[in-house]
Amino acid sequence: MDRKMKPKENTFISEDSKKHLKKELALLTDPVTIIAVLSDEQNKPFNEFSRKLLTELAALSEKIRPVFEKPGSVVAGQYGVTRTPTLLVQPERYHIRYTGAPAGEEAQTFLLALIMASSGQSVLSEASKKRLSELHENRNIKVFVSPTCPYCPLQVLLAVSAAIANSSRVSAEIIEIYENKDLAEEYNSFTVPQVFVDDRIVGRGLQPEEVFIEEVLTAAPVKLKAFEGTEGIIEKDLVIAGAGPAGLTAAIYAERSGIKTVVIEKGNIGGQVAITPVVENYPGFTRIGGSTLMDMMAQQTIQYADIHQGEEVLEARKKGDFFELRTNRAAYRARAVLLATGAESRKAGLPGETEFAGRGVSYCASCDGYYFKDGKKVLVIGGGNTAATEALYLKNIGVDVTIVHRRDSLRAEQYLRDRLAANNIPILLNSTVKEIQGDKSVRAVAIENAADHSVSTMPVDGIFIAIGYVPNNQLAKKLGVDLDAEGYIKIDKGHRTNVKGVYAAGDITGGFKQIVTAVGQGSIAAESVFEDISAGDRKID
Ligand code: NAP
Repeated sequence: MDRKMKPKENTFISEDSKKHLKKELALLTDPVTIIAVLSDEQNKPFNEFSRKLLTELAALSEKIRPVFEKPGSVVAGQYGVTRTPTLLVQPERYHIRYTGAPAGEEAQTFLLALIMASSGQSVLSEASKKRLSELHENRNIKVFVSPTCPYCPLQVLLAVSAAIANSSRVSAEIIEIYENKDLAEEYNSFTVPQVFVDDRIVGRGLQPEEVFIEEVLTAAPVKLKAFEGTEGIIEKDLVIAGAGPAGLTAAIYAERSGIKTVVIEKGNIGGQVAITPVVENYPGFTRIGGSTLMDMMAQQTIQYADIHQGEEVLEARKKGDFFELRTNRAAYRARAVLLATGAESRKAGLPGETEFAGRGVSYCASCDGYYFKDGKKVLVIGGGNTAATEALYLKNIGVDVTIVHRRDSLRAEQYLRDRLAANNIPILLNSTVKEIQGDKSVRAVAIENAADHSVSTMPVDGIFIAIGYVPNNQLAKKLGVDLDAEGYIKIDKGHRTNVKGVYAAGDITGGFKQIVTAVGQGSIAAESVFEDISAGDRKID
């Protein structure tokens, strides 16, 4: 399906996408009714989008049965629908509601929701279904999303699945924040995905299935716990932690050498690249969306190795020549471990930063920028490539964006600086944000001028913090791996660490953090694993 927000007349679903869709729609078993409450007057592009989407899907499969209703109709009243567009999936059987058009990233989850509602089968594990069957109180799940958020679809899939698995108790509502700004404000939900159970926030960001199901059961936030079972230990040669470019490349190379490999990923496949709006320096692709590039790498990887998404390695220890690892879902025994756990956004430590996180303070422009797209004023803090790339993305979708940087020049590459100038993006140099201010959400920042130390207040609606990364080294610490002063893993030329059998690749090793380097490092680490395992003699002094 085209990932366009406002498709042109009659080019809504391309012929290529239709071919692909027909295959997916062949999975429909029973007919699915979708009640679509649409307005001709309000929120026009999104109502039109929803009408076209349903009309064209119905033309592709007779099992898709849209029923169009107007706001204020008896049926709209019967289901308590007051907003448009609202789409109810198989409402006589399930409580699944899309409040806002299922556009962009959500188009795919909507399609999967139809397929699941048709068969009555969700994507949840048997264990999760059993837990949900024990729920005897009603639960309402709200997931706030945006059409450009790469983390949202999986969270939506879990919510819809819960509503299918226990249809008498669980209702799921998917709320698009740009079209429902009042709801986003009421729930303080400007960072997506954000999940509420019975109107209580239980999580920000993509959550592992086990955690989410427990949150639905308890209607409260839940911490991840290690799997405690003693049976069914998964035996592998190599466990790779992290499904960014380094981990995925290593998996391809390792499996092709005959090393039995699994990749464990706690969050989104693709790491930081998956949330990079545009990549222009990966050879072979002049210009490609970060999430598209990572989708392609993941598709290639799963031809060789399994990727276990939604699992986090919580316990790790060495026992003899083997490693015993426990995730939230399973136990593993492996001969080697590759740490490709990457890095996460650095926090600025500003007054107001934690308080307004998710309420106007963001670390991901592609996730949260869409909300600000009608000329809302935002600041990007930082002077590197990330700040420049995010500012360009925000400007491109219609945000009124200004960069604030503490030095007298940006460190972003010349090409990006030229693009900032060509796009007339204002840059406040020698300026430091001292405080983030607001009420329910961000309203202003206090900025200090480095020359005269004067402090001024600038009204803003949002702040994107892009000041570099900190290494995700918790697992490395558990394994006793040596780190440098900044917390990055020390490695030798073959990407071996000080712990025999533990290797590292990608951003977690510090240095030049590029996709091409991560990919190269992944291949070198895999080659070392192969050499060491096949020699039966790991080459560490
Ligand atoms: P970066 O290159 O480390 O730059 C971080 C920026 O944030 C610097 O300008 C730094 O200022 C500033 N900063 C750091 N701490 C700060 C604080 N507490 N308050 C205010 N400003 C602060 O980080 P990045 O831009 O995220 O890039 C990380 C890596 O990813 C780099 O290797 C980059 O090349 C790569 N990347 C590449 C691309 C691309 O090629 N298109 C896109 C995105 C990222 P100073 O200059 O004063 O130190």
